[in-house]
Amino acid sequence: MVTRLYTHPIFLEHITPPGHPERPDRLRAIERALDDEAFAGLDRVKAPQGDEATILYAHPQEFVAHVRAAIPETGIVSIDADTSASPKSWQAALTAIGAANAAVDDVFDGRADNVFVAARPPGHHAEKTTAMGFCLFNTAAIAARYAQRKHHAERVAIVDWDVHHGNGTQDIFWDDPSVLYCSTHQMPLYPGTGAVGETGAGNIVNAPLAPQTGSKVFRDAFLSRVLPAIDNFVPDLIIISAGFDAHHRDPLAQINLTEDDFDWATGQLLQRAGRHSDNRVVSLLEGGYDLQGLAFSVAAHVGRLMKG
Ligand SMILES: [Zn+2]
Repeated sequence: MVTRLYTHPIFLEHITPPGHPERPDRLRAIERALDDEAFAGLDRVKAPQGDEATILYAHPQEFVAHVRAAIPETGIVSIDADTSASPKSWQAALTAIGAANAAVDDVFDGRADNVFVAARPPGHHAEKTTAMGFCLFNTAAIAARYAQRKHHAERVAIVDWDVHHGNGTQDIFWDDPSVLYCSTHQMPLYPGTGAVGETGAGNIVNAPLAPQTGSKVFRDAFLSRVLPAIDNFVPDLIIISAGFDAHHRDPLAQINLTEDDFDWATGQLLQRAGRHSDNRVVSLLEGGYDLQGLAFSVAAHVGRLMKG
């Protein structure tokens, strides 16, 4: 297995207000964890700048212009109650998109079996026309569309195990049966969407979890809801919206997973990718706000990607 890792120093320059959980130290914690010699075999590549035109794969032009116009020259501005932008946020978001799209190229062109993109800001809350929940643009959605346009992928599965429901990804693909969106998430919790009955064009699979859910119920949901949907869909590519805020240490939610659960879930998706999509897996960092829980979880996730 060749596992590629994309990072870039620009991701540290998307600055959020003091005390905000989505902060640059998250990436520093991940960097430290992946510095361990266990990860010496990672193919480390500096993320390329993204092509602005690809943002339009998931968002209309007016919205893109609105976000661009909101980027301040100095200081920090609020985009919504918990989403903000600083002078380098545009470049950070665009580089996150560039890395995700490059990761898609890598798995289709055979440069890597799978790729982890350690970027911020995250993306899964960004709807077609709304930046929210720490997210400016929906990186996973753009990457899925990019795989379809550039590499003629017919079906892309997005699996989102962030503890928050990916309302943005669901919104973008609501009536698009060429993309399967599967989410496990705590309910009730921000942003309030993600009920079982929200099924789009039959391509949305929501598996909400009650507060205090632990490993067994999470794994059961994965085995009974997510994996059968993937087997039924037969994707050409699996994209993971890899948030690690369902870890028991995380301060933003009450799900009690451990890093072993992320190792296990990664292994399950790799099996499906081997069966259906020539091993192609692109994993994109979403949430995860306890630095130790995040570091342990990313180490388990990337370690599993490398082992296959
Ligand atoms: Zn989250």
